[in-house]
Amino acid sequence: MGRHNLTVQTGCTVSKIMFDGTRAVGVEYVDRRGHVHHVLSRDIVLCAGAIKSPHILQLSGVGDAAALESIGVPVVHHLPGVGKNLQDHLAIQIQHSCTKPVSLQPTANLMNAPWIGAQWLFLRSGPGATNHWEAGGFARSNDKLPFPNLMYQFLPLASKSYPNSPTGPHGYQVHVA
Ligand SMILES: Cc1cc2nc3c(=O)[nH]c(=O)nc-3n(C[C@H](O)[C@H](O)[C@H](O)COP(=O)(O)OP(=O)(O)OC[C@H]3O[C@@H](n4cnc5c(N)ncnc54)[C@H](O)[C@@H]3O)c2cc1C
Repeated sequence: MGRHNLTVQTGCTVSKIMFDGTRAVGVEYVDRRGHVHHVLSRDIVLCAGAIKSPHILQLSGVGDAAALESIGVPVVHHLPGVGKNLQDHLAIQIQHSCTKPVSLQPTANLMNAPWIGAQWLFLRSGPGATNHWEAGGFARSNDKLPFPNLMYQFLPLASKSYPNSPTGPHGYQVHVA
């Protein structure tokens, strides 16, 4: 943030990328007071996320020509793949209470937070030094697939995120995505 060649603008919405022919040359954005700004640049990194990145490209005229023309956006470059093939990764979270006191469930107790925090801060160790998703694996759901399409993650903690979450003193969970 202190670098002389860096300016951070918050509360702004990029409305489109400006083009010279098919070359991106700048960005148009609207500030929180509704004022429109234009910034010219040799390089632009578009990183507005899985949904907004293709949306901004479409608003800028990059996308399926027929779709853009149907809403009056001048076509800069016909690129039919833009905005298509979004794939969500579905996940299942299976949680259980465990009958033996072997989980890390007590670390989730707020009373333990100061000690865990201090351990991490001063010794860089203890339960605060990991995100606990330490065991995992990848598998193919059938032999015809050339690569794994399932991801497993194990956490020696149950979370209280759902009405039917385990309520016992110890628990664990497995994620399959
Ligand atoms: C519920 C959930 C759980 C996840 N869990 C994991 C996980 O455990 N591990 C993992 O690796 N990944 C996880 N992900 C995925 C991970 O969060 C994303 O892959 C990652 O955040 C993508 O980063 P990004 O910078 O490309 O986009 P984003 O993080 O989406 O950032 C895009 C930014 O652009 C801004 N923006 C959008 N449009 C405009 C505009 N017009 N003008 C200005 N700014 C704009 C947005 O406000 C946002 O701040 C999870 C995602 C979700 C939704």
